Amino acid sequence: MSDVPILTPLYRYWRDLGYRWMGLRRAAGARTRGLQELHRMVQRCQRCPLHRERKQAVLGVGNPWSPLMFVGEGPGAQEDTEGQPFVGAAGQLLTKTLAMAGIRREDVYIANVVKCRPPGNRTPRPSEMQACFPYLIAQIEIIRPAILIPMGNPATQMILGQSGIMQLRGRWFRKNDTWICPIFHPAYVLRNPNAFPTFLQDVQAIVATARRMGWHRGE
Ligand code: SF4
Repeated sequence: MSDVPILTPLYRYWRDLGYRWMGLRRAAGARTRGLQELHRMVQRCQRCPLHRERKQAVLGVGNPWSPLMFVGEGPGAQEDTEGQPFVGAAGQLLTKTLAMAGIRREDVYIANVVKCRPPGNRTPRPSEMQACFPYLIAQIEIIRPAILIPMGNPATQMILGQSGIMQLRGRWFRKNDTWICPIFHPAYVLRNPNAFPTFLQDVQAIVATARRMGWHRGE
């Protein structure tokens, strides 16, 4: 495991949000209220062009007290309709893999780098990810996961500042109080079924590490 610099200071991001950051900071003491405030902010956000075609912004879902926070790329069509991340085929694979590792989807917190659906499910553009990154940083600050799990290259690049998921997956990095362990994106695993054993092994290792830290399912 290595110690790497990653997250740009939180306050600069909140300042860049340009409004209500003081309220968000106060709310950060209460995770539910903090996430509700963020949810309201992303629903009216127009910081990047992705707001134009969204049905709704998708902030995140799951247990805000979980030590595990998974971060994907962006909402797809079904997520855009339902308002929850990872409810399509990739989400079902993630749910199944979590179950095989001995935990439920509702035991973890799941979010994306961008909160609005890129048209045609394309990869979000760097400018879009940069525009939306303050919300992810705020989510991380509110949830304070023990282990942050970027899924796929875009999330790994944004969170870790490094690319090359083939080399980075399953490796552990440390920033302040948070461990970071990148894994494949479930959509990649759907397209490449041979990657599933590696994907499962990585998720199992992450859950085992959380348990060694003293976490029990449902806390
Ligand atoms: S993707 Fe993020 S930055 Fe862009 S409009 Fe949606 S909430 Fe705002």
